[in-house]
Amino acid sequence: MINPPEHVLTTNEFHWQLGLLQNLDVGLVVLDADHRVVVWNSFMSNHSGISDPCACGKQLPELFSNFPNDWFKRKLNSVFLLRNRAFITWEERPYLFRFKPHHPITGVAEFMYQNVTLIPLSSPNGQIEHVGIMVYDMTPVAISQQALRTANEELALLSRTDKLSGLANRGHWEECLHQEYERFRRTQTPSSLVMLDVDHFKKINDTYGHQAGDEVIRILSNLLKSHARNTDTAGRYGGEEFGVLLVNTNEDNAMVFAERVRNAVEALTIRHGPHQIRFTISLGIAQVNNSHQSHEDWIRDTDTALYHSKTTGRNRTTLAEDLE
Ligand code: GH3
Ligand code: MG
Ligand code: MG
Repeated sequence: MINPPEHVLTTNEFHWQLGLLQNLDVGLVVLDADHRVVVWNSFMSNHSGISDPCACGKQLPELFSNFPNDWFKRKLNSVFLLRNRAFITWEERPYLFRFKPHHPITGVAEFMYQNVTLIPLSSPNGQIEHVGIMVYDMTPVAISQQALRTANEELALLSRTDKLSGLANRGHWEECLHQEYERFRRTQTPSSLVMLDVDHFKKINDTYGHQAGDEVIRILSNLLKSHARNTDTAGRYGGEEFGVLLVNTNEDNAMVFAERVRNAVEALTIRHGPHQIRFTISLGIAQVNNSHQSHEDWIRDTDTALYHSKTTGRNRTTLAEDLE
């Protein structure tokens, strides 16, 4: 490793090289052709609690319960036979040897994440009679990558969510609608869009204050969420205007959904401080069809139906189809 092949190690050199390997901050194990331990450095002793004399002569499954023996044997045999190195990353398998992590800053990890390298070791006769196993502690890398992934997922969710209502924000909601429109063009499966707007919302703000208005938006949003299915997308389109995309739903079924929501809102009393607030909503529905050239056309049709509900008395639902 350190010396050219023709150089024969003196006892002295052999001794200090062994000392170096013993004290390396990397796990070092050498297995013989029977898969028995012949080298077990102090990294391995310290983390496993199994001393060098206890480990030597044993096979790994005798030392660790739940050792993935069948899988590991296949890897090991390929190193012995093909004389190739093998790598096991923590992403592929979090650890080979279950050790407790020892980093104070990464106390959150349950175990030590490891990268493992298997190296064929040739004897003077050129035969591969031993395999070296090197174990690298990857816990800090694994923990920071996981933290980064979680933070990115949270960021992605935040960028899609409207803060006040917790529903999809307009950008994300329109993107979902666009995708659903494209899906309709390919598959011709029906989908319906419901848009709704709070009646006389300005009056709620003026009478009870802006915070009461915000509370109405929050409660209405929760009500929409609880009535929609997991596959539907409810979004905040504007101030007190919402859109709910109902996938695989024709306009008759969308009407059932819309009327259920409208009745639930009508029956609702919101308590805000000393006030009891009641309100209604107006709704419009359009099922996507081939006259729509884009998802914007689909929105326009739905909005026209909603506007019709507003101009004909509010607290009602209109189907775009009925206006044609
Ligand atoms: P209509 O029945 O015709 O819909 O009457 P409206 O009063 O609801 O309609 P209009 O569009 O005139 O008023 C909407 C009001 O919503 C105006 C705006 O001040 C208020 N608004 C918009 N966004 C928010 C919000 O986030 N919070 C609160 N509290 N009010 C908002
Ligand atoms: Mg309104
Ligand atoms: Mg409005």
